[in-house]
Amino acid sequence: MALRVLVLGAGFGGLELCTTLSDALGDEVEVTLVDKADAFVFGYSKLDVMFGRTTLDAVRLPYRDVVKPGVRFVQETIVAIDPEARRVETDATVHEADVLVVALGADYDFDATLGLAEADEFYSVEGAMRLSETLPEFAGGRVVIGVCGAPFKCPPAPSECALLLHDQLTARGLRDDCELTFAIPFDTPVPPSPDTSAALVEAFAAREIRFVPGNPVASLDPARKVAVLAGDGGELPYDLFLGVPKHRAPDVVITSGMTVDGYIPVDSATLATRYPGVYAVGDVATVGVPKAGVFAEGAARVVAEQLIARVRGADDADGYAGRGSCYIEFGAGRVGRVDVDFLGGPRPTGTFQAPSDALVAEKVEFGASRRARWFGR
Ligand SMILES: Cc1cc2nc3c(=O)[nH]c(=O)nc-3n(C[C@H](O)[C@H](O)[C@H](O)COP(=O)(O)OP(=O)(O)OC[C@H]3O[C@@H](n4cnc5c(N)ncnc54)[C@H](O)[C@@H]3O)c2cc1C
Repeated sequence: MALRVLVLGAGFGGLELCTTLSDALGDEVEVTLVDKADAFVFGYSKLDVMFGRTTLDAVRLPYRDVVKPGVRFVQETIVAIDPEARRVETDATVHEADVLVVALGADYDFDATLGLAEADEFYSVEGAMRLSETLPEFAGGRVVIGVCGAPFKCPPAPSECALLLHDQLTARGLRDDCELTFAIPFDTPVPPSPDTSAALVEAFAAREIRFVPGNPVASLDPARKVAVLAGDGGELPYDLFLGVPKHRAPDVVITSGMTVDGYIPVDSATLATRYPGVYAVGDVATVGVPKAGVFAEGAARVVAEQLIARVRGADDADGYAGRGSCYIEFGAGRVGRVDVDFLGGPRPTGTFQAPSDALVAEKVEFGASRRARWFGR
């Protein structure tokens, strides 16, 4: 009988896992991929949608296009996970598997920050869509881009938001009527890479974007229109607040009992959880790497290689290396890159590549290659 693999979540991790398994094993494996959504959207596309650089329709990748030997996609909402029995209940049925891979990502905890529910955010598709409609109406004033807690997805993304917003306000002739402030929990924009951080801080300074490091936003007072900082209790007045909410594992993962300190602990080399035959990859897991698609993808490949080795009766593959490259929008159509290594040494390191036309093309290719590989487009 074919190995039954149940993959929970069709994001970066789930899609890469299914694709690698299908490419190597085809019908020798029976993969069920479960997601409540009907389409995938790249994280960075939210910034493109928010700033009107594209439309949601243009960046939605429907799961009906995931057509691969050995893989079956089902659109269902997962309501309970029993990791010991490798048994998963959805709103439609019950799934059982030989191997369970949890790739359910991180959810946003809007209620964890007082007042945030009444402000804008750009980390969800809905938030980005709303902003695509309201930003063109913004008449100028004080804008605060505020991160409410760490860890958060794609650490460079709020910096990108600040730089792209500067561009949009400049193009609208409003930049001189605006003050931009950017508050973040970290001491630098991209902590593992001092060069990347220096380039971003320089870009903020050149655009008169006030950078407030080491200071997450603790709460908002929408009546007074101020953001209160957690670090020093200072207040940032705003006319427009663009927030990054606190993150946490999806409720269904927390109630499964798999989490410790909010996320699923895994062996950092194999991504195995403490439950036999159960793995966790991507933002839902604690591996010691940032919450970013490239890391979810890399972790998924490592799990896939172990399963391929199991089916083939071969030796286990190499362990997870914790390396990844992130493209960073610097504004004015420029894209840089940081290559980070989180597990290779005593502490994380990162190498910066300054913005160039080649990196603009590379980022386009990054998306196009995933669209082709996962969705056959
Ligand atoms: C603004 C922004 C910009 C970003 N830019 C980048 C970038 O440039 N590069 C990069 O690498 N990363 C980037 N990211 C981060 C990236 O999007 C995430 O880290 C990545 O998607 C994580 O992959 P994952 O597989 O762990 O989870 P996800 O991709 O989040 O997938 C999880 C899936 O689980 C599903 N799910 C959750 N709960 C349930 C349930 N109960 N039932 C059924 N399905 C469920 C969800 O619908 C989702 O499809 C960005 C993120 C944001 C917000």
